[in-house]
Amino acid sequence: MHKKINIAIDGYSGCGKSTLAKALAKKLKYIYIDSGAMYRAITYLLLKEGIYPEDTPNIDRILSEMDMHFKQEGFIDQLYLNGVHLEKELRTMEVNNMVSQYSTISNIRTQLVRIQKQQAVRKGCVMDGRDIGTVVLKDAELKLFLVCDMDIRVARRKKELEEKEIFATFETVKTNFIERDLIDSTREDSPLQQASDAILIDNSMLSPDELLNKALDLAFKVINN
Ligand code: C5P
Repeated sequence: MHKKINIAIDGYSGCGKSTLAKALAKKLKYIYIDSGAMYRAITYLLLKEGIYPEDTPNIDRILSEMDMHFKQEGFIDQLYLNGVHLEKELRTMEVNNMVSQYSTISNIRTQLVRIQKQQAVRKGCVMDGRDIGTVVLKDAELKLFLVCDMDIRVARRKKELEEKEIFATFETVKTNFIERDLIDSTREDSPLQQASDAILIDNSMLSPDELLNKALDLAFKVINN
């Protein structure tokens, strides 16, 4: 029996992290955990309740009342918030436009990081996000940091959104990426940065299969070592 490792994948928005993480989890028979979905779910809930990022007392109340948990379905840990599996609601431009602002709030991060760490205790997890290699899974056996040319990121994301019947212009998606990248990489609490032991991969010119094969090679080197 092969040893199980944890794999952390970080990078800017739309660099192909979740596509890679899902494919890796499927190939390795590991579990995929989408940490961004957790920040999106809180954002969705707070927006629905009309609670803005400055409203600390109400944010703390929502955090203490909410039930966020995962149910393993196949190789994916599906996220449930207050008993409801959210999917399309998390990908709207409203959520895209606000998620990075709510994600700067330390009380939100502390609670989500606690859940993320619990999920990864069993090993055999592929988790993607912004602070996975630097904060959540500091001891992950393999850490990848993805980068990608901006216009390629935008074109790929626009196509993904269209497949979900969410329509946005090239400029809208691009502006959102630029804003989120800036907030995510300059916030005080766990900013997005490449962990010193993460391997940098430029995904601009790679097909999903080429990226997967590169990551699998790296994973097998660690697993078989
Ligand atoms: O990965 P995704 O694009 O779905 O993440 C949405 C947002 O959630 C990011 O732009 C970032 O603001 C926040 N996030 C975070 N830390 C993570 C994952 C996501 O701050 N580990």
